[in-house]
Amino acid sequence: MDANFVQKRMDEIQKEGSFVEAFGALISGKKGYKPVIETKQKIIKCKNCNTILDENEKFCHECGTKVEKE
Ligand SMILES: [Zn+2]
Repeated sequence: MDANFVQKRMDEIQKEGSFVEAFGALISGKKGYKPVIETKQKIIKCKNCNTILDENEKFCHECGTKVEKE
């Protein structure tokens, strides 16, 4: 088994999504369980200038607009 074969197989597994299922089965003990993998962080942007803000910021550090949170 060479490295290219492994890489190719890994690509196939990821395309099929069976990796996620296998991982889910592993951590839950249940087959078909799909774990929720969080890849997105909540991004807060200034409504006025679209600067990406830290969630702790109350006012935009670029333009001073008040940050409105839902
Ligand atoms: Zn701003």
